[in-house]
Amino acid sequence: MNRPASRPGAAEKLLAWYDGHRRDLPWRAPPGARPDPYGVWLSEIMLQQTTVAAVDGYFRRFVDRWPTLPDLARAELDEVLREWQGLGYYARARNLHKCAGILVADHGSRFPETEKGLRALPGVGAYTAAAIAAIAFDRRATVVDGNVERVVARLFAVEDPLPGAKSALYRLADGLTPDRRPGDYAQAMMDLGATVCTPRSPDCGACPLSGDCAASRAGIAETLPLRAARVPRPTRYGTAFWAVRPDGAVLLRRRAESGLLGGMMEIPSTDWTGEPPRDGEALDRAPVEAEWQRLPGRVRHTFTHFHLELAVMAGHVGEGWREADGVWVPVERLGEHALPTAMKKVVRHSLSHSAPATDED
Ligand code: SF4
Repeated sequence: MNRPASRPGAAEKLLAWYDGHRRDLPWRAPPGARPDPYGVWLSEIMLQQTTVAAVDGYFRRFVDRWPTLPDLARAELDEVLREWQGLGYYARARNLHKCAGILVADHGSRFPETEKGLRALPGVGAYTAAAIAAIAFDRRATVVDGNVERVVARLFAVEDPLPGAKSALYRLADGLTPDRRPGDYAQAMMDLGATVCTPRSPDCGACPLSGDCAASRAGIAETLPLRAARVPRPTRYGTAFWAVRPDGAVLLRRRAESGLLGGMMEIPSTDWTGEPPRDGEALDRAPVEAEWQRLPGRVRHTFTHFHLELAVMAGHVGEGWREADGVWVPVERLGEHALPTAMKKVVRHSLSHSAPATDED
């Protein structure tokens, strides 16, 4: 493939475009000013999982409630997890809280300014470290997210598919990154990818880089970047236990700290495996003694790497219930716990299919 090693002058054109077209985002500083590293870090962690539009409200709520790093470090983890609900991957919220604590305890409430120093923090990977170093501290760093990969693949007409092409795209992006205004440049690339060089309909006529763009010249911009065929997601199965005490409280349990949904509250369930558990096997894993009845239907949820199907057993726990591993929560107060989306579906399913508890149970 004939790839020019660089695009002389492209960075300056992009910076000039950015000065007139930059997006106004709540975590950005006005032109010429330095943003608050706390806001940059918070927004970058949130943006790892979702769009700018979705993050906007979460970001404003977080900084409203915890305006500074020490405020966030002092917060209860459960409060942080509750505010995070809907942003996915709770491990990131846990790392966010842990990272705030470490920065306050060991770094005088200041962020390291280098990529290396930033990468040592929990929840901060290569991309996030580069983004914070560039945006918050104006350090030269190569910031490559999905938007930037798309722009670079098109600029150089890279036809090798992702994810295999990632390192080649990184090297090309690195060759474009300027020494002057690297923070603005990183944000300019993000903005170009989000508003002009969009996935399905790049607006090459409005693009400051159209004269430098091999894919636009070749008329193949919309087709890039190519992606290798995805491996289909497997399905995992399990059984959840909707245990109801005579006073109507429901049993919740905290998941193990490590692994998927680590440390989150859940409706107790069996392990999630490749085969649906038989009812008898599942009942061996019940968290408490009860007369269990299988509810009709199943709860389905899709995680990044697999589909989950849960059968639900409902049981009214008698007066002689033994102590269970977990906490009993009145149904009307379940909303006060940071339940992951899959578990909220189990709650809805159980409430709509199970009979209310009676004094005779
Ligand atoms: Fe993207 Fe078109 Fe600009 Fe090339 S010219 S970078 S394809 S918007």
